[in-house]
Amino acid sequence: MRYISTRGDAPALAFEDVLLTGLASDGGLYVPETLPRFTLEEMRSWRGLPYHELAYRVMLPFVEDSIAADDFHAMVRETYEAFAHQAVAPLVQLDTNEWVMELFRGPTLAFKDFALQLLGRLLDHVLEKRQQHMVIMGATSGDTGSAAIEGCRRCEHVDIFILHPHERVSEVQRRQMTTVTGDNIHNLAVRGNFDDCQKMVKTSFADQSFLGDKTQLVAVNSINWARIMAQIVYYFHASLALGGPDRSLSFSVPTGNFGDIFAGYLARQMGLPINQLVVATNRNDILHRFISRNRYEKQPLEPTLSPSMDIMVSSNFERLLFDLHGRDGHAVRSLLERAQSEAVAIEDYRWQSARELFDSAALDDEATCRIISDVYGANEYLLDPHTAIGVGAARECRRDPSVPMVTLGTAHPAKFPDAVEQAGVGVEPTLPKHLADLFEREERYTVLDNDLTDVQNFMARHWKYAS
Ligand SMILES: *Cc1c(COP(=O)(O)O)cnc(C)c1O
Repeated sequence: MRYISTRGDAPALAFEDVLLTGLASDGGLYVPETLPRFTLEEMRSWRGLPYHELAYRVMLPFVEDSIAADDFHAMVRETYEAFAHQAVAPLVQLDTNEWVMELFRGPTLAFKDFALQLLGRLLDHVLEKRQQHMVIMGATSGDTGSAAIEGCRRCEHVDIFILHPHERVSEVQRRQMTTVTGDNIHNLAVRGNFDDCQKMVKTSFADQSFLGDKTQLVAVNSINWARIMAQIVYYFHASLALGGPDRSLSFSVPTGNFGDIFAGYLARQMGLPINQLVVATNRNDILHRFISRNRYEKQPLEPTLSPSMDIMVSSNFERLLFDLHGRDGHAVRSLLERAQSEAVAIEDYRWQSARELFDSAALDDEATCRIISDVYGANEYLLDPHTAIGVGAARECRRDPSVPMVTLGTAHPAKFPDAVEQAGVGVEPTLPKHLADLFEREERYTVLDNDLTDVQNFMARHWKYAS
């Protein structure tokens, strides 16, 4: 399988090259040139498989030109056997035909573990084969950083530098990053905000000369195709558990960068019967404004109780726009260039075709707390604020009550205790056993000024083969 850029001008690449690249050279994102399509019969034969066996079958077509099937099988098994729940992604029923799929049973308690635990193994495997060493650089407002660090802690061929805004991430989130020890792990607390960190990462990717010519940067944010790939699997998992593929399902997905929900769209393109996909956003609702009104426009960022969805623009949305434009990369480029400075719309028939599948809703903090409290009242089940937005949007947008609606549970409530407290349910979420001593563990991080040169000098001095 080859991968092509959403902007039409970059060379097509194989899986392993896409894995090691950030943006395509034309500024676009990589997508598969064609998707594998599974028959109903094939999918039926997967019922009852352990999660890792299903994951192996769904993902193999994407990687098989680059990675031997046996090696891939072993990596996938190790990845999902390390999750704290035997079912890996257990389904919890809230009401008739209403479910939450718990995607927070991995090491760092957010769905990002599904992709990043595998990504670390894939990177190390490919770099071992090539006898190369690479440097991951990423910025985080919380969940991505801890999942990436945890996913790469055992990598021999990767150094990982994660920038977080000093004193602006929650204590649980910071400790999840800074208590992981390993010579290849470098936590940098930057005296600035998340945007400052993000900007440093972007600038560093564009000009990597500060690292010399012996290594290169790798991206681990959701522009990396391998992350989307790993997220396709759990849509199949939910479907097969709830009567699919002989029955259609709907999903509601708490959305920031449109990565997780784009994976659901791909699952449908690969043959899985999906009735409806609900885009669930907080007050930072650029995607809701597009889905509901065909208006794509940047607005200033507002901090919310669901910080992992606080975004102004959604990078992976470009991958959907590419399909909506008949895979015309130049049309995507010109649309997104205009969107830099003005509100844009797409042709009505294109927007209508997106509406056949997608609905959307935006919930503010008050509505988020109300859902946490309603669901706790009805089920004694605690939702984290992101998942609560998913459940609220599902209830608002549901088209057909006879179709099971599955909300993706993107984080464990103990990761966001403040929101749970604000919801006033009167219970405190507790950390699972494997993190129970988080507050006693020793932390290790370096505080740096909000200065690109300082950060780059630090990296140039501290990666494995720095001279
Ligand atoms: C990252 C994240 C999201 C948003 O996921 P996208 O793939 O960026 O849409 C939602 N909830 C939680 C808890 C997250 O960590």
